Amino acid sequence: MQFDYDLFVIGGGSGGVRAARVAAGDAGAKVALAEEDRYGGTCVIRGCVPKKLMVFASEFSGMAADAEAYGWDIQLGAFSWDAFKDKLNAELDRLEGVYRRLLAGSGVQTFDARAKVVDAHTVELSTGERKTAKHILLAMGGRPVKVDVPGAELAITSNDIFHLSEMPKNILILGGGYIACEFAGILNGLGVDVTQYYRGAQILRGFDDEARGLVAEEMIQRGVKLHLGTNVESMERTSDGRIRVVATNGDETVFDQVMFATGRAPNTDDMGLEQAGVKLGRGGQVIVDDYSQTAVPSIYAVGDVTDRVNLTPVAIREGMAFVETVFKGNPTKPDHELIPTAIFTQPEMGTVGMSEEEAREKGPIEVYATSFKPMQSAFAGRTDRVLMKLVVCADTRRILGCHIVAPGAGEMIQLAGIAVKMGATKEDFDRTVAVHPTMSEEIVTMKTPVRRA
Ligand code: NDP
Repeated sequence: MQFDYDLFVIGGGSGGVRAARVAAGDAGAKVALAEEDRYGGTCVIRGCVPKKLMVFASEFSGMAADAEAYGWDIQLGAFSWDAFKDKLNAELDRLEGVYRRLLAGSGVQTFDARAKVVDAHTVELSTGERKTAKHILLAMGGRPVKVDVPGAELAITSNDIFHLSEMPKNILILGGGYIACEFAGILNGLGVDVTQYYRGAQILRGFDDEARGLVAEEMIQRGVKLHLGTNVESMERTSDGRIRVVATNGDETVFDQVMFATGRAPNTDDMGLEQAGVKLGRGGQVIVDDYSQTAVPSIYAVGDVTDRVNLTPVAIREGMAFVETVFKGNPTKPDHELIPTAIFTQPEMGTVGMSEEEAREKGPIEVYATSFKPMQSAFAGRTDRVLMKLVVCADTRRILGCHIVAPGAGEMIQLAGIAVKMGATKEDFDRTVAVHPTMSEEIVTMKTPVRRA
């Protein structure tokens, strides 16, 4: 059978764009891609990139006081959200242009339209056109979801935060995951009075207990009003246009804005997937095998739409592995083991491998950890602490987990991640000479375990 394309990609985010480019550019396939919104997807348009720029913007608030402590005569003026937002939007426009050019340069035909699956080899565009392809790649990503409480429509999500017409004076952030904690830090740094409600006993569930405990302490220390074991019961608009929130502990508080950061859902609604035979999980995620193949052999899926590990670099890896498998005759499974990751809280957390809690379930371990006041901020009179921690297998001596809470932890964990991925032992770390004076030198100078378990 003659198809219009070798590959039709649905979704122009990190995973979809990479797969389309490599299939067309390297493997010489005839490729089309449909995107209903902006090219670049969540990461570039409403996630990692604008978030990180906001992190940078927010960190300047503490720098003037530090500079003064170091002898500079410096005054901090006001932050202009409008000035920042204009620049941010210009940068996102630039990046979207880069994505479009990369696709065009690789010979990918793009459609600025929504696409739905009709059958194993056919998609229908919102323009009404139908296109056929030997393979279809689902890369529609995900979207933020709001919890179902009365008044939930009054809340914004991370999608809206970059478009606010003005910075609120105060905000309630609901949730204790990556997005909630990152934005609590960002907005606090930008001078917003931030309250955060999290239903559980400690934020950042699933990460190392000691690391998330320190992040929580430092967030509180910097001014975030963190309420644990607390959820939103209901919300209503006040007569002056603000939002009255009733909490599960009975507290009633009025906020300018409320942001829900209560998880994300895969974009699989109304896509024709189940009718075409693609199996979905309970959360709506596309079920795939180790090679990202769905229940329909000609249809594959990568990235957040599969809800495996929802991170940009993982979606990119999955996209590349798909191209190797399908277009280069080299069956390749994306590797989901030992993925280093960073949470851009303030301070940042960088982590790779198992938490202490996870590792101790698997066998005997040794824990090496040190928490201290780093030189730069201690000199400026701040009480901030950092954490360097290694979880070591007592039998093989391999590093099972490395957890860093410190300014720049994201940069540090990328490098530590290589050693951990290579199977480094505690003795490999020990025989590496310290880089002095740095914070990260502590990762190679910890001599005695603080715990054995
Ligand atoms: P997460 O799943 O990380 O966190 C969701 C939070 O909402 C949790 O604290 C959860 O609580 C809470 N929650 C869920 N349901 C309810 C409810 N009914 N009532 C109250 N609270 C609720 O999702 P995020 O939206 O923060 O992030 C989505 C994904 O995006 C992440 O998993 C990550 O993969 C990715 N991401 C990565 C970043 C990075 O690499 N730096 C940055 C941002 C996002 P509980 O813990 O109790 O379930």
